[in-house]
Amino acid sequence: MKTHFISIFYKQKKYQFILSIFVILLICSNSITYSQNNEHYVLKTLVIDPGHGGKDDGAPGKHSKEKDIALAISLKLGKIVEENFPEVNLIYTRKTDVFVPLDERADIANKNKANLFISIHINSNKNTEAYGTETYVMGLHVTNSNLEVAKKENSAILYEEDYSSKYEGFDPNSSESYIIFTFLQNTYLEQSMNYASFIQDQFETRALRKNRGVKQAGFLVLWKTTMPSVLVEAGFLSNPNEEKFLMSEDGQDYIASAIFRAFKEYKRVIEEKSQFSSKIDSIKFNNENKNDIPSNTITNNNISFKVQLSSSKNPIELDSPFFKGISPIEELKINDIYKYTCGSFSTYNEIIEFKKQIEEKFPDSFIIAVDKEGYQIPLNEALKIVNN
Ligand SMILES: [Zn+2]
Repeated sequence: MKTHFISIFYKQKKYQFILSIFVILLICSNSITYSQNNEHYVLKTLVIDPGHGGKDDGAPGKHSKEKDIALAISLKLGKIVEENFPEVNLIYTRKTDVFVPLDERADIANKNKANLFISIHINSNKNTEAYGTETYVMGLHVTNSNLEVAKKENSAILYEEDYSSKYEGFDPNSSESYIIFTFLQNTYLEQSMNYASFIQDQFETRALRKNRGVKQAGFLVLWKTTMPSVLVEAGFLSNPNEEKFLMSEDGQDYIASAIFRAFKEYKRVIEEKSQFSSKIDSIKFNNENKNDIPSNTITNNNISFKVQLSSSKNPIELDSPFFKGISPIEELKINDIYKYTCGSFSTYNEIIEFKKQIEEKFPDSFIIAVDKEGYQIPLNEALKIVNN
């Protein structure tokens, strides 16, 4: 038992080190990906990643294979994107029935400086009654069923000869391996979440699919992408009705067009927001003693990092039990959305330490950055400013 714990501890340390190097690389690569602050942001490059392929069939249906349906939907999606946005640089990780390792898929997106990565998959479950769509973003799973989906998708690496060294000893079927995602700092979580929620909305309203929600889990294919990225599970091949739908031309058209509509909406929103910077309209605290409140303005670089707990279309009372006793809570009203944060630090290291205390109560919380002008700015932009 003890040695088991020590080995986990050792692995944690090792992964912490690997991840810190990764974070540094990420910051460096972001400075290349993003242009100057005053330039208008344009979504230029989209990568569509049809799951599995070649020797990897993915989930088996009774009459179909996941790899074929994922490819069919991906090609349909790409076609609609090309027709509507010929200026978008569209890249596929595969266009035919070939095997592509998971790390190569992320590499393709990173090398091409993609602005968005969409990985398309079809789910399966022992329970043949299960049906509906889910969209995942990179993160630590909160439920076992999310972990099971990640295990199933990550098992694709077992087809790669040198997977053990390539993925730093990661065993897709061991729950223990997923501990590395505890330390993940997902710079693009908010954007990825936004796009994922647009997709789920479209699945529900346009394609009339059951909405199983936006979820988080540790997917290797999303792990090292340096842009907003999502993994779509467009239905269950294990459900006879859904398999029939997903095999049909109409069904595939509906799914592709829903993902496209979400893409169109996402593109519009981020381009309008101009590099995601958003003016904060009002700020409210729930602590009368202002001395207790870390200042937004008295910092060297005038950037403050905060932990966002939640956001809502309607205001939440700052002393509500919803915040699980965390105080002070700060409310930022941005574009008619109320964002609830806690903590305010001038360095990234401090906020990472602080966030660890918050994670127990809010596992989905994430770090945001606010500048001295009262704008929420992209985290990668803030890190650039702080590191200069
Ligand atoms: Zn899959």
